Amino acid sequence: MPDTVTLLIDPLPADADAADLASTFREVDATAPALRVGELSTQRGDGIFETIGVVDGHAQEVRPHLERLRNSAAICELPEPNLRQWEAAIAHAVERIPGVGEFALKLVLSRGVEHGPAPTAWLHVSAARDQSAARERGIRVVTLDRGYDRTAAERAPWLLLGAKTLSYAVNMAALREAARRGADDAIFLSSDGYVMEGPTSSVILRFGDEYATPAASGAILHGTTQVSLFDHLAAQGARVVERDVAVDELERADAAWLVSSVRLAAGITELDGRAIPFDADATRAFNAYLLGPRD
Ligand code: PLP
Repeated sequence: MPDTVTLLIDPLPADADAADLASTFREVDATAPALRVGELSTQRGDGIFETIGVVDGHAQEVRPHLERLRNSAAICELPEPNLRQWEAAIAHAVERIPGVGEFALKLVLSRGVEHGPAPTAWLHVSAARDQSAARERGIRVVTLDRGYDRTAAERAPWLLLGAKTLSYAVNMAALREAARRGADDAIFLSSDGYVMEGPTSSVILRFGDEYATPAASGAILHGTTQVSLFDHLAAQGARVVERDVAVDELERADAAWLVSSVRLAAGITELDGRAIPFDADATRAFNAYLLGPRD
């Protein structure tokens, strides 16, 4: 069984009802060239993506990821994706990989080739890196200025904030800056003093028996992992809130995490060089839940 699978997809219109969805994608060799040089995803980062965790043969939270893909497409004025087609492609890829272990499944929808007739779409699934150190021992995090305020998304919609675009050069630069400062990850702060998100994750803080996350105001992504974990915590009787989180609350939190689809929950042990409380038991329980099959 291969441990990577790549599918090139002919994107169908959102309302198309193809009887044979499997004939709209084909498997290609990921080590061979597959994209054209005029491709706007590679030239300009003009496209959107999703990364879905696959655990023991189960793709996690497929619908929430596809809904977010649809929302990103709307923000970027890309054709609305056909979610049934993406579901079929995901199911096909997951059947082709080993049924045990953790994988990362990436979906990409780009504006296509310059002057070309249609968007380009593909899916690639490969084995996930071992995340046990971050999950079990936690991560050191630095805060970084994101350079705009909380209301930037409404004021300047062309910034495409809130869409998961392929333009992740800034997010990757933030991770390099974190590494330069001796940390593992970063939390972006708005210029008006609020906590936003990590470059590839959502922020969760605990105060007493309340869990808080920055409200997805349009300037940050709605994290599928955060939403899933909050639903689970609420079902267990915890109080969960999405609200503005001021910067100074980071220091007052009883515990803090970065959560995302593949690494799952990583407890924060150090913030800007200072130790903060790390709850190993809660983190273990979060990851036990997040590793179970979730739809
Ligand atoms: N925020 C940003 C900027 C991200 O890139 C990601 C995921 O990559 C997240 C939040 C977390 O989203 P999810 O939990 O759906 O992986």
